[in-house]
Amino acid sequence: MRKNGLVISIDGTAGTGKSTVGKAVALKLGYGFLSTGELYRALAYKVYEKQVPADDGAAVLALAKQLKFSFVRQPDAVLKMHVDGEYLGAKLHLEEVGNVASQVSTHKEARAILTEQMRLAGKDGGIIMEGRDIGTVVLPDADVKFYMTASAQERAKRRVKQLKEAGENPNYDKILALIEERDYRDSHRAASPLKPAEGAIIIDTSSLTQDEVIATVLEKISHYAA
Ligand code: C5P
Repeated sequence: MRKNGLVISIDGTAGTGKSTVGKAVALKLGYGFLSTGELYRALAYKVYEKQVPADDGAAVLALAKQLKFSFVRQPDAVLKMHVDGEYLGAKLHLEEVGNVASQVSTHKEARAILTEQMRLAGKDGGIIMEGRDIGTVVLPDADVKFYMTASAQERAKRRVKQLKEAGENPNYDKILALIEERDYRDSHRAASPLKPAEGAIIIDTSSLTQDEVIATVLEKISHYAA
């Protein structure tokens, strides 16, 4: 147990509900919540803005070293991130930024810089951190580790529903193919590939509602809390 409580990691593939669940659980426990993809997205945004070639590992590293991150916990548990004093907000979720993020996240040395920032944000505990390599690389000594999965078919179905609700006309087969492609890339990259940490509690969310997942996570954590 650290100063502010437990350190909890949630890793897993995209579209398994890690962020929604992590945030809800953090709020219940009075902990902070950090979605670490935000740091990769911030680096990507700066790479894009400064027109640094995303495949130039040395240039991406030099830029990563210059960035000043700060995190302030909000009433909804989320650690709000400022980069060089600026809140980048919705800009981080632009499609281009997401694409560049997946490229910059392949550079090992730049990953190390961002990993250091994540560790600083979690050093006093009382935190739930969500990502791809939190339990394996960023916080290997986390108190409780979760790994969330769901079948590619179920995640494609959820994404189709979301897009339909947003007024779009998505193609299920195309979305399923994209999800399978991303899973393959995430779990086969050389630097910090996606895999369950040793001792991680694996939760398959395919046939569970969000509330059921939240209840499961809270129940597991209750065995560790003081
Ligand atoms: O989770 P999110 O979609 O915001 O992540 C953005 C990008 O950052 C993804 O391409 C993912 O591969 C990368 N990422 C990572 N390690 C993490 C979190 C995100 O490589 N811990």
